[in-house]
Amino acid sequence: MATLADAGLTFTSLPHPSPTGADQRAAILANPGFGTHFSDHMVVIEWTEGQGWHDAVIGPRQPIALDPAASVLHYAQEIFEGLKAYKQADGSIALFRPEANAARFNRSAERLAMPELPEALFVESIERLVQADRDWIPEAEGASLYLRPFMIATEAFLGVRPAKQYKFIVIASPAGNYFKSGAPAVSIWVSDYTRAAPGGTGAAKCGGNYAASLVPQGEAIARGHDQVVFLDAAEHKWIEELGGMNLYFVFDDGTLLTPELTGTILPGITRDSLLTLAREEGLTVTEGRYSIDQWREDAKSGRLVETFACGTAAVVTPVGKVSGRDGEFTVGSGGPGQLTQKLKSRLVAIQRGQEADTHGWIRKI
Ligand code: PMP
Repeated sequence: MATLADAGLTFTSLPHPSPTGADQRAAILANPGFGTHFSDHMVVIEWTEGQGWHDAVIGPRQPIALDPAASVLHYAQEIFEGLKAYKQADGSIALFRPEANAARFNRSAERLAMPELPEALFVESIERLVQADRDWIPEAEGASLYLRPFMIATEAFLGVRPAKQYKFIVIASPAGNYFKSGAPAVSIWVSDYTRAAPGGTGAAKCGGNYAASLVPQGEAIARGHDQVVFLDAAEHKWIEELGGMNLYFVFDDGTLLTPELTGTILPGITRDSLLTLAREEGLTVTEGRYSIDQWREDAKSGRLVETFACGTAAVVTPVGKVSGRDGEFTVGSGGPGQLTQKLKSRLVAIQRGQEADTHGWIRKI
């Protein structure tokens, strides 16, 4: 793979002794939570029209100065990714499919009229940050160093058009279990709101999608649920995804179904990996449409035995109770099903280096 140097870029590495004492860091890593603590370093690469990517720096994590007219603050030209670095069984460190995140980042960039970042630069930036902050990787089961690459439009200009200046930044945050309660299954509220419409930005990982999901997610919480499920915009009938996870349905004949990628759903890398793993398990997996009415009917008849959500943050999480305007139903036993657990343990074993990586998904650092 090409490197930064091949692209005419050299990485400046600013020395930065950790401001966090070893004892304080150990206390954080013992109970990291999600998204509240951050590592010591960050990567910043600038992009300017006519010049391309330049000034790649890895240095202290610190606030960034932005002109108040920076486009991102007004028209939300922002995209991001989320992936994890895992401690392996042998003590080494690995990323899971970072090239897939790089590719999705560029598809998001294209949709938001932002510049493409060569995949090698995306991956090398992450690798350098993980190397610099290797002391920030928690080792407990289910824990990892969550990496957040993102790009913002920094040009000071109030006209509505693609900006001519951007920053690509990577920060890192130690992460424990995503769900605070460590609940065996999540309960879900079927939202009346729409997350994404055909022709919109649903398949892109842009901040605006998440801003728009806060009220629906808040409604789910207010009603005593953990997560929100969105239906399609046109008919309000077909199941799409949760606010930050894709869905899988498991039937009593051993078949699996996951909503097809229609352009309004985020193409999850966990979703894609599970397609492969489930097929290896000899299961028939289809990508297709599944309606909320069918979901309810199949859960009640027992034809549907499990439903699980999947994503980088929560890995594989069973769905128990589902509620909406048309009432409530429970999937299977309401707890983790057999296949959910099997697929989760295989995925986690691969990510942790406890199972051979036959797919080329693991990238050791
Ligand atoms: N859907 C949405 C809306 C998401 O934000 C995410 C998290 N990136 C996912 C699905 C799952 O994607 P992945 O498996 O790549 O984390």
